[in-house]
Order: sequence, then C-alpha cells, then structure tokens
Amino acid sequence: MDTAEFRRRGKEMVDYVADYLENIESRQVYPDVQPGYLRTLIPEDAPQEPETYEDVVKDIERVIMPGVTHWHSPYFFAYFPTANSFPALLADMLSGAIGCIGFSWAASPACTELETVMLDWLGKMLKLPEEFLAGTEGKGGGVIQGTASEATLVALLAARSRILKRILNDDPEKQEANIISRLVAYSSDQAHSSVERAALIGGVKMKKIPTDCKFAVRGEAFQKILEEDKAAGLIPFYFCATLGTTPSCAFDRITEIGPICNAEQLWLHIDAAYAGSAFICPEFRPLLDGVEFADSFNFNPHKWMLVNFDCSTMWVKNRSDIIGAFKMDPLYLKHDHQESGLVTDYRHWQIPLGRRFRSLKMWFVFRMYGLRGLQEHIRKGSNELNEALLKKINSARTIHLVPCQLAGRFVLRFAVCSRTTESRHVQEAWAHISKLATELLHQPSH
Ligand SMILES: *Cc1c(COP(=O)(O)O)cnc(C)c1O
Repeated sequence: MDTAEFRRRGKEMVDYVADYLENIESRQVYPDVQPGYLRTLIPEDAPQEPETYEDVVKDIERVIMPGVTHWHSPYFFAYFPTANSFPALLADMLSGAIGCIGFSWAASPACTELETVMLDWLGKMLKLPEEFLAGTEGKGGGVIQGTASEATLVALLAARSRILKRILNDDPEKQEANIISRLVAYSSDQAHSSVERAALIGGVKMKKIPTDCKFAVRGEAFQKILEEDKAAGLIPFYFCATLGTTPSCAFDRITEIGPICNAEQLWLHIDAAYAGSAFICPEFRPLLDGVEFADSFNFNPHKWMLVNFDCSTMWVKNRSDIIGAFKMDPLYLKHDHQESGLVTDYRHWQIPLGRRFRSLKMWFVFRMYGLRGLQEHIRKGSNELNEALLKKINSARTIHLVPCQLAGRFVLRFAVCSRTTESRHVQEAWAHISKLATELLHQPSH
C-alpha cells in the first residue's frame, strides 16, 4: 500500500467506522456463534503471497462481525461501560502514525510531557490534593497505565519494596525472604479479582476485610484484623480500597481506613476504576473525600470518560516510592536529564518498557468536550429535564405524581398509595413513564 492508496483507504475506513457506530443499534448485541466458529472461516495458514486490500475488507463482515459482542450498542448492559468517542478515535490514529515508544523523556519528549500535563489537568478536574500533581517540581505526579489491574499491581510492588527497605534499613541483619513471608496486604471482600491477583503475582498474602450492610469496608472492621495480624507476627503493608465496587458500586470508607493506614505506615491505594470519572462533578466529589490519606489513586477514563481503551490513570504522592521499586538503568537507556516534574522516565513507573502515545486521546477529548461536556456526559440529564418529564406525565393524566427536592436535585417521587394497587399497575405506570421520557429525549431541544 503506498501513500496514495492509504489516503483513499483511510477515508473509506473512516466511513466504515462511522456507519458501524451510526447503525450499531440494528446489529444484534450478542453474537450467535459457537466456540471455534472463526477457525472454519479462514485458511489454516497465513497466505504465502500478498492479498489485496479488498479481500481483507470483505472479510470484516464475513469473519469478524458475526463474532463481535457490540460493547457500544445501546442494548449492551453487561460488565461495565467502555469509552468510545470520535475525538479519541482520531487521536489514536495519530498516535499510531507517530508510533513512538515513549519509555523515557528523551525517547519522545512530547509523549512524556503531554502525559504529565494531561494527568495534572485531570488531577485538577478531580480536585486531587496538590501532592498528587507533578507541576514543575512536585514530588508526585501521574502516569497512564494500561489497566486498573496494572495500577493495583504496580502500587502493591512499590509498597512491598518500600516496606522491605524500611525494615532492612532499621535492621540489616534481617532476612529478606523471612520478611516477605510475613507481609500481608488487605482489600475489601467486594474488591475486583485483579486485586487478589496482584497479591498472587507479588507473592504476598492478601486478606479480605468483611464489609458492612452497604458493602463498604469500615475502619473498625479493618482495625480489628490488623491488630490480630500484628499480634500473630505478620507485617501489614498495603491496603487496596475500592471506590465503586464491581458488584454494586459500593464505596469503602476511606475517611476511616486512611488514618489507620497512615498511622501504621501502610500503603493506601485506591481503585476507583469505574466510578472515578464521576468525581469531576462537584456533587459527586464528596465520594472521594479521604483521598488525601492515599499513597496512590487510580481510575479508568477508558470506562466512563470518553477516552477509548486503554487509558488507566494513576497518581502517586511520592514518585520516588515507585521509581525506587522499578528503576533499572542500563547504559543504552541513559540520558543526561535529571528526573523531575519536567523530565519523567515513565519506564520506571510501569512494568513494560514500551509505551504508546496515549495522552493524545486525553488531550483531544478534554479539549473537544471541555470539563462541562464531560460533566454532562456523567450526569446525563438535568433538573430541567426532570421537571419537563413530570409536566408531561401529569398533563397526560394517565398517572399522577408529585416531585421533591433532594440535595439540590429535582426528583420524581413514585409512591404506591392505593389499597387496590397491584403489580400490573406499577408495571403499566413504568411503561408509560418510559414512553414519555423517550419522547422527551427525542425532542430536538434535548
Ligand atoms: C473495571 C474494574 C477493574 C478492572 O479494570 P481493568 O482496567 O480492566 O484492569 C478493577 N477494579 C474495578 C473497581 C473496576 O471497576
């Protein structure tokens, strides 16, 4: 394929993608295929001779699409949301074209510097404490990891390295293997499976703290287990709290857990992979209170903030903790700039060496939506919209409702009042409300 053909094919592909997304609703959300379906549709071996682009493109609908689960279909309600927006798709195309591997500042300064600044922008949108920002000479800062699982693991490994150094510093006679065998990490019994897996990979014990009736870890429950473990000669070193758990979007009480972690010198990592995007709205920001106690914080803009996969943003208060755990400096990767808020070698902040230019997606999305647009995406509807819906419901005269105000929000109350109300009346009312809401949302002004 030469440049002239690439220009043409590129435009065709953009059309294909636009058609796909525009008409995704008409595709069946979950495919009708059996395991192994694809093997029978393509040859056993890679082609010996080159094929044409037309041949390849023809096979997208024949081979691929029948086996795709359409995560961006409006009928997809499984797992969790994964972001998709046009600005991010375009930025990813540019990232592919630049194709740099930004493992150090010198390996591609724009790739590193844009990432540092985007993480500061986003950190400010979330109102993270100043210590998490890089600025020009901050000790903290942010990094893009591929996934929340990697962020949890990186934090656990950094915590393990920090505690080992601390203990060996106090008593160089101690045996490293003996210390590691006594280390214990903690999480909620509602935490994502990747948290337990981080402990497995990190070769340390992990205990799950039982949660309360709201599926949240409370300080008291944690303190009790911590005391028992210390009395048994274990060394607590890491707590992974979840804000927005996978089963029920529960929030661990970090305002209670945080002070305990700080007093006991445990590393507090916060996994807010899904819910984190909501903290850019002032009304949801209180859910992040207590982040000031954390050593590291992570969430996935690739879930709910319109930045396509992969983009999992992680901040640390003390970059030296993370660099201290992962730094290796072979001669061929050395350059003359001192690490600071301005010069970051992100290879020391992650497990792989190589890394893509992912911050372009953030830059495009943040600029083209603005904070206001991103907040609107999270809120999906206003008080005015709710008021208009109530007016529509009550003027239709089929059912009757009254509203209330809850913490500044216009809420429609649905009270089951009559002695003779049955389940079918509630079902009918719901169908009626849904129909009117859909009509309202399709009016041009919304
Ligand atoms: C989605 C999710 C994860 C896993 O995210 P990856 O980025 O795929 O690793 C972990 N924790 C929570 C709370 C999640 O919502």
